[in-house]
Amino acid sequence: MFSSLSDRLTATFKGLRGKGRLTEADVDTTVREIRRALLEADVALPVVRAFTGSIRERALSAEVSQALNPAQQIVKIVNEELIGVLGGQTRRLRFAKNPPTVIMLAGLQGAGKTTLAGKLGKHLKDTGHTPLLVACDLQRPNAVTQLQVVGQRAGVEVFAPEPGNGVGNPVEVARRGVEHARDKQYDVVVVDTAGRLGVDAEMMQQASDIREATQPDEVLFVVDAMIGQDALAVAQAFQEGVDLTGVVLTKLDGDARGGAALSVATTTGRPVLFASTGEGLADFEVFHPDRMASRILD
Ligand code: GDP
Repeated sequence: MFSSLSDRLTATFKGLRGKGRLTEADVDTTVREIRRALLEADVALPVVRAFTGSIRERALSAEVSQALNPAQQIVKIVNEELIGVLGGQTRRLRFAKNPPTVIMLAGLQGAGKTTLAGKLGKHLKDTGHTPLLVACDLQRPNAVTQLQVVGQRAGVEVFAPEPGNGVGNPVEVARRGVEHARDKQYDVVVVDTAGRLGVDAEMMQQASDIREATQPDEVLFVVDAMIGQDALAVAQAFQEGVDLTGVVLTKLDGDARGGAALSVATTTGRPVLFASTGEGLADFEVFHPDRMASRILD
């Protein structure tokens, strides 16, 4: 991913190498190339504008004009700005003082929430926790069975609706799931919720009701990295609808150009915590903004 962005930036910076001083025209040429690269990487236009605006401002300041090697200084600035937009330092999960910690997953249908619930369950188990997955996606046929299958694969318990468990009512299932975790001393609850193909008022209301009922410590927006220009509107809707605490990018193994990472992080103002890189349980990584920025610039 990000290959077109990194190639273009490399080419642009190569052109500047060896220049002792940069004129305003040089800066503008560079910023234009960065802008083109970001657009090619499918970063949403308003995000590109904001990003290149800060780069231009810093590129025209004394920190660049007085630098020994202005081109290198611009690379450094782009790197810093990318890291900043992607969340700064690596952001770990926040655990509740009084368990269970509740992690709610939200996002469009097909984003990869159910798959991620299994991966997160495994990750939590591997790091010494006793997680419980709660199946609140009662919208998509088979989502409950799918969660049970990934739970089994990950060796993690699944709380699913059955008579007496609030069948048909996802908010009730979520509430009972958290109660069950408290009773049985699971220390983390991962709540899988329903998505729709597009942003939908009923889905958002349901997600918001689940948030209210479970008081999660983390509300993670699960988003397909291939979403492209739609990233901005969808991320904005989820941020307003359920008040996110973090982002998980999925399908980073595909040929996504990576723009979604910047668009979603900028739009929500929330850090990216994890990346999903395949269909298998092991295809899961803690997201490091600095590593991603280096990957973009390499
Ligand atoms: P949900 O509707 O949000 O719960 O989405 P699912 O978890 O059912 O995922 C939708 C599809 O995407 C499934 O076929 C998954 O196997 C696939 N999927 C999920 N995460 C990834 C990923 O990181 N990479 C790839 N290549 N496929 C993924």
